[in-house]
Amino acid sequence: MARLIVVANQKGGVGKTTTAVNLAIALGQRGLIAAAEGAASEAVSAPPINRKVLLVDLDPQGNASSGIIADTRLAELKSSGKTIYEALVGRIPIGDAIRSARERVFLAPSGPDLVGAEIELATREGRERVLKQILAPVRDDYDFVIIDTPPSLGLLTLNALVAADSVIVPMQCEYYALEGLSALLGTIKRIRASLNPKLQIDGLVLTMFDARNRLSHEIAREVEKHFPEKVFQSVIPRNVRLSESPSHGLSVLEYDPKSAGAEAYRNLAVELLARLDGGVAGPLRKDSDEVPARRSWSLRALFARDNERGKR
Ligand code: ATP
Ligand code: MG
Repeated sequence: MARLIVVANQKGGVGKTTTAVNLAIALGQRGLIAAAEGAASEAVSAPPINRKVLLVDLDPQGNASSGIIADTRLAELKSSGKTIYEALVGRIPIGDAIRSARERVFLAPSGPDLVGAEIELATREGRERVLKQILAPVRDDYDFVIIDTPPSLGLLTLNALVAADSVIVPMQCEYYALEGLSALLGTIKRIRASLNPKLQIDGLVLTMFDARNRLSHEIAREVEKHFPEKVFQSVIPRNVRLSESPSHGLSVLEYDPKSAGAEAYRNLAVELLARLDGGVAGPLRKDSDEVPARRSWSLRALFARDNERGKR
């Protein structure tokens, strides 16, 4: 059974797309666990695990599509009339919109007309369930379906939350990080009560963490205090490689696999695999006890260091 994960936060520019793209590529990579542990993959005797991942770009801005597909192919793809938009309005089966992006990573791209989809769907009966319905025939072809959403709690995001098993919420380490979170959590609660009782929160991910900035540390602490259990230990640092890679149509894991950004997203993927139990097929469970010991950007390590400093 595929695990369907939505990356959502109605705040703009907090790292949703960066997280969706890099998580999709990380989950699709062979030898993810070994790489996250910093070990040479040849040294690991366990057979590689093949996970198949579908990335759904549900944002009219189309940043996930352009972040994973090179410019040359992207223009053709957007004007093909075979995008997530046509699938949502019932013109094509979603299978026709899905393209191979990497060996084990597939993309349902955003299209130029997606911006009108919210209005077009608004009058349809069962308008919140459209994505769930169109994904049903293909979702079991994948181990993971990752959905990138626009910066709003509109009908597109609602459709994603109704279709999903769980949500990942990226939070930028800045002063207003927590602002608006209650609206998102309230929406999730309401969806649970009515349209999707099994919807879970996989966790909050701190993004654009700047170790030299005191505020980043304070925000991290604050978020951890409000949501213990729910914050991923893997913190995503502010890293220029992460902002450069999309313009090449590459994830940071491909653009600069040794960068701090790549390491952080590999660690996040491994931590996610470890958190998931039930509903994840055989070999993935094996990963559960393989959480990397070395985490350069782990919350616990950051707090320990801050406490040490405080004592001095
Ligand atoms: P939107 O709400 O517009 O969809 P978003 O939440 O998807 O935005 P991203 O597009 O992922 O946010 O990130 C916003 C910008 O910040 C992008 O230019 C991205 O390349 C950059 N960025 C994201 N994460 C990082 C990071 N950890 N370090 C440096 N730059 C980053
Ligand atoms: Mg985005």
